[in-house]
Amino acid sequence: AAKSSGRDRVHLFSPGLREAARWRLEVATRLRGDAIDQLVVHYQPVIRLDTGEVDGVEALVRWQHPERGLLPPDTFLSVAEETGQVIPITRWLLRETTRKAAEWAADGLPLRMSVNVSARHFSAETLVRDVRVALRDSGLPADQLVLELTETSVAEDPTRAEDQLTVLRSFGVRVAIDDFGTGWSSLAQLFSLPIGTLKIDRSLLTAAERAVAGETGAVLTAIVGLTRTLGISSVAEGVETPEHLRMVRAAGCDLAQGWLLGQPMPAEAIPGWVRGIRA
Ligand code: C2E
Ligand code: CA
Ligand code: CA
Ligand code: CA
Repeated sequence: AAKSSGRDRVHLFSPGLREAARWRLEVATRLRGDAIDQLVVHYQPVIRLDTGEVDGVEALVRWQHPERGLLPPDTFLSVAEETGQVIPITRWLLRETTRKAAEWAADGLPLRMSVNVSARHFSAETLVRDVRVALRDSGLPADQLVLELTETSVAEDPTRAEDQLTVLRSFGVRVAIDDFGTGWSSLAQLFSLPIGTLKIDRSLLTAAERAVAGETGAVLTAIVGLTRTLGISSVAEGVETPEHLRMVRAAGCDLAQGWLLGQPMPAEAIPGWVRGIRA
């Protein structure tokens, strides 16, 4: 077959691919071992556009690799998805983040906590239990937890995902659609889910810089109109510049997130940052 042809073999042993294969193997092996102890969570503020207050934070995982330093999620999560390690990672994240949110709330800083959920978790059907355990052990009220899903996390088996989300919704947990505008192929499927929030992907704001600013404003306004009709809230992602902020305000977005408004930061930095913003 083509795969065993000489040309492919030469290709396979090119340095880039060999390095990539070695990295995948390292990730798969390490994440099965003690590397989960090396994972850290950074938190990015989500801002209310009407008051400027901090509504909550999104939990973003990083790997504090002993030799390579702090690694972003795209360097290891796709391997973790393939091996299934993303499930214990998310389980750990749910415990860690709900505990953190409960701790902040006890210190007088109630912040809604958003956690990204992967496709694997829906097919393993442990998500409901994992969320329930995390809420019970942390004491965090269910309505302070938001689960963020992308199209791929639902598309594999929409009915199964919908069933689990409906159970979670009945506890009071919120569901957010992540990266809206990047590939939600079926709006009917999307809006059959019990969603409370639509997160508008930053690619829309990036498009505004490519000489289509007028259209972007109109599209943003239309998306926000859609969320109003559905009675759900809207979050603009990737607000990097004052111009982005102006656009998302003009469109009437409820919430926004991005480097201009607040970078992802370690847990210890959050209370001071939030109090500074509020002062
Ligand atoms: P996402 O859920 O869309 O998260 C937002 C990403 O955009 C984060 O990247 C964040 O650091 C980055 N970001 C925030 N503000 C700005 C901005 O103004 N401009 C730009 N260019 N980027 C901004 P990060 O942390 O590298 O995460 C990348 C993706 O990895 C996330 O995209 C999410 O899909 C996934 N991810 C992160 N943490 C987790 C996790 O705990 N579990 C799972 N399943 N996926 C995760
Ligand atoms: Ca997200
Ligand atoms: Ca997103
Ligand atoms: Ca994204």
